[in-house]
Amino acid sequence: MLKVNTNYQKLPGSYLFSTIGKKVAAYTKANPDRQVIRLGIGDVTQPIAPAIIAAMHRAVDEMGAAETFHGYAPDLGYEFLRNAIVEHDYKARGCQISADEIFVSDGAKCDSGNIQELFALDNRIAVTDPVYPVYVDSNVMAGRTGTYDEAAGTWSHVIYMPCTMENDFVPEFPKETPDVIYLCFPNNPTGTTITRDQLQAWVDYANKNGALIIYDAAYEAYISQEQVAHSIYECEGARTCAIELKSFSKNAGFTGVRLGYTVVPKELVYEGQSLNAMWARRHGTKYNGAPYIVQRAGEAVYSPEGKAQLKEQVAYYMKNASVIYQGLKESGYTVFGGVNAPYIWLKTPKDMTSWEFFDFLLEQANVVGTPGAGFGPSGEGYFRLTAFGSYENTVKALERIKAL
Ligand SMILES: *Cc1c(COP(=O)(O)O)cnc(C)c1O
Repeated sequence: MLKVNTNYQKLPGSYLFSTIGKKVAAYTKANPDRQVIRLGIGDVTQPIAPAIIAAMHRAVDEMGAAETFHGYAPDLGYEFLRNAIVEHDYKARGCQISADEIFVSDGAKCDSGNIQELFALDNRIAVTDPVYPVYVDSNVMAGRTGTYDEAAGTWSHVIYMPCTMENDFVPEFPKETPDVIYLCFPNNPTGTTITRDQLQAWVDYANKNGALIIYDAAYEAYISQEQVAHSIYECEGARTCAIELKSFSKNAGFTGVRLGYTVVPKELVYEGQSLNAMWARRHGTKYNGAPYIVQRAGEAVYSPEGKAQLKEQVAYYMKNASVIYQGLKESGYTVFGGVNAPYIWLKTPKDMTSWEFFDFLLEQANVVGTPGAGFGPSGEGYFRLTAFGSYENTVKALERIKAL
């Protein structure tokens, strides 16, 4: 008889967004006259830029003619896209990455979940706390995380690196030595980041300890400060200790189009095994590639028009971020993030729990955000607002918060 993967039963329910949904639905039902503004979403709202839409249209037409039709894509992705990535995301920044180290995929979420397949089950993973939940949950499914402590909200076999206002949201090297370290900068949910020098220290730490860094750079396009690295490969020695995940979701609005890539340098060799060769094997066996139409759309992201249009899109969201950040500051809140990321992370006032603050904000200002506790125990006492809404709604929401 079939036996199931019992690791799935260990997963604590992800109540965060369903609880938010239920609370908002109950409130709107009881108060139908109130207009609720949602600043809780982690999804973009601006339409795809015209240069990208034009490229997609052209690719659609190619698919309709026998001479230009495209079937299965090459395993690693089309060369036109991988070359554009190498040129614009790496060479232009002085990073040495070659096209055969780029693996095109349908997004960074899948890649961040799938990549752990390459590692033995007895590796210890380390994550920042709060954290993007995929890193932990995908390791739970694999059976790598030990037992769950309901009260603490932690797994016995996971190393947590708290990121709070006390340490300026910069993770400290853990007491126990991890084998795999997940880092995401600029960070979701905190909207904070670390400097190139601080990232360099992590690269040095990983190289010294034989650990691998999985570097999630999904918010790279939002970086505004010079001292922040756009890629981990700007750090010396990263080619021997880091895999980088990139996504077209947040910089180009591809959350529904789906496109991303993973960089696996050839120097990553452990126990005589090349991670590049292993990931290539996995890609070839389990994945048939992102659609041609979407890869052409991805290529247009790097065209001069595409770049200019996306710069404006990012600026639109970052203007919202600034409205939120300044508005909260003026109202006396302690606020973080919003400078290199479209997320603002605030300290809840008067020692409210993050859920108490959620209710307070919903009921008093009719504004929806995300309780920090939903991202890990160190998120308690914090709250996330996102800049992905419309400018008008963002301004309105902040007027309401200021009036509280
Ligand atoms: C949004 C996001 C991603 C992107 O995921 P896709 O699957 O490419 O849409 C990756 N990592 C983090 C932390 C994110 O917030």
